[in-house]
Order: sequence, then structure tokens, then C-alpha cells
Amino acid sequence: MKIITSVRKFCYLTESLKRHGKTIGFVPTMGYFHEGHLSLFRRARRENDVVVVSLFVNPAQFGVNEDFKQYPRNRKRDMRLCAQERVDYVFAPSITAMYPEGFQTYVEPGKLASGLCGKSRPGHFRGVATVVAKLFNLAQPTVVYLGQKDYQQCLIIRQLVADFDFQVQIKMCPIVREPSGLALSSRNTYLDEKGKQKALALVKAIRWFQARVKKGERDARLLKNGVRRILFKAGTRVDYVEILAARELSPFRKLSGKILLALAAYVPAGKRGGARNKVRLIDNCVMKIPKGGFI
Ligand code: AMP
Repeated sequence: MKIITSVRKFCYLTESLKRHGKTIGFVPTMGYFHEGHLSLFRRARRENDVVVVSLFVNPAQFGVNEDFKQYPRNRKRDMRLCAQERVDYVFAPSITAMYPEGFQTYVEPGKLASGLCGKSRPGHFRGVATVVAKLFNLAQPTVVYLGQKDYQQCLIIRQLVADFDFQVQIKMCPIVREPSGLALSSRNTYLDEKGKQKALALVKAIRWFQARVKKGERDARLLKNGVRRILFKAGTRVDYVEILAARELSPFRKLSGKILLALAAYVPAGKRGGARNKVRLIDNCVMKIPKGGFI
């Protein structure tokens, strides 16, 4: 496995790979790997000649009061895991390599970015879209592997690919969870045992929602309130709970078609502390509602 930090060297490499007709499976990440990341590496490994992982904690996607500085990092362990998963290249540029002095052009996503995390984290998806556009130009990927954990991000990146004519296929991969059901996240490291217990409210709320919908409940307001209640009762502070059309992220009163339940909540971090001693966690589920029938 080779680690590349220079933008120029990375370009030479990907150009040469393309010239030799290799397919490039690409996984953009911010590091501090867990099984969620590894599941993407494994799929990329199965489906491509060459696997490239980028590791870059992108300052442009963090707000001023967010956890850019505290964001967990462990370069050595990350590299070891990449090597174990037979990743071929890790692109790990410095901040100045990605944003040299004078950098001033940003990609502004459209209405897919206006709700959910886009609303709670102004500028977040602008930072994501900008770095992803840069990484796609550099990595020249054939297929990009993204996690459903960041569902809205996947849709925004798909739209970016369509709008800017990137010759790239996007594959959204399932959320990997702990046996408890907690969705894996690099930010889980902020949680102590108590925090982890509280964080389980997210998956508990999702399961409650799935069961109600399976039983035939279609009233979005009622379902949202139920989910909120579970999150609140567990001692988390709700950031948002939304039930939306899964493709356009538009709201509806009565559920139909392919639906997304997306939630974000602040969980008390415990003594390890995140930004201002609370951790913002997200989770989601997608369901298909057959016309007129039950699931
Ligand atoms: P990050 O390092 O948090 O930017 O995540 C890098 C990629 O891993 C993104 O496409 C995430 O959606 C994906 N990812 C993060 N957590 C999970 C998870 N629990 N299951 C599957 N994919 C994940």
C-alpha cells in the first residue's frame, strides 16, 4: 500500500492508472476508521482493479463552533487498517495542499442541501461538495462508495455528479451498526458508557417507526411525534426528525412511495466530551411503501 500526500503525485498516479485501463474504486473519508468505513473498502476491493481511499479532515465542512479541532484522528491505525483491507493507495493531503493560499472557488449545492443537516449546519454541504469535486478531479474514480449513514450527503453528491458531468458511478452502501444497533460513527468515540446508552434512542426510534409503518400507519405528523418522544424520553436533545420522499427530500403528510426517516440528536457526551460536551449523532432508514397495501 502506498501513501500519497502530494496533489501532483496523486494526479500522475491516477492518470497512469486510467491510461492502463484500470477501474478505480474510490472511498472518500475523514479517517478514524470503523467497520462502516471498512465495509466500503471491502466492496471497492471486490468490484475494482485498484482501490483508492482519501483521508482528509476537511475544514471547509465544519462550522466555527463545530468539532474540527477535536475530530478524532489516528493516522497510524488508519493506515494499518487500510493495508489489512488491501487498499492500494491512500491519498492523505495536508490542508494547504487542498486549500493553498488564494483558494476561493466553492461548489454550492442546491435544494437537496436546504433541509436536514444543511439547515442545522449552514455551509456544511458547500464544504462537502467543494472537497468532493476536488477529490473526484484528482482521483478520477470509476466508482465511488458512500455510506447511507450520510444519506443526504449521498444525494447531494449524486446531484453534483449529474450537474458537473463527472464520469463517475455512485454506490450507496448500507449502514453498519454495532450489535446494539447503534450506527457506527467516528464521533461515537466521544461517548462514554452512559452516553452510548442514551445514543441507542436513535435506533430505538427508528425501529419503532419501522414497526408502526409496517402495521399501516401513514400519518407523518403522528410518526414524527412518536420518534421525537422516544428521543426526548431517553435524554437526548432533538435537532431534527423528518419524514421525507427519499429521492427529492420533499415533505408529505401521508407516507407513500420510497420514504426516508432522518434524525439528528444531541447526546450528552460524558467526560470524554465533544464540542461543548454534547455529541450530535445522525441516523436514518429508508422504506418502500407499496401502493395501497401493507409492507
Ligand atoms: P467519514 O469518514 O465520516 O466522512 O465517512 C466516510 C464514509 O463512510 C462516508 O461515505 C460515510 O457515509 C461512510 N460511513 C460512515 N459511517 C458509516 C456506517 N456506520 N456504515 C456505513 N458507512 C458509513
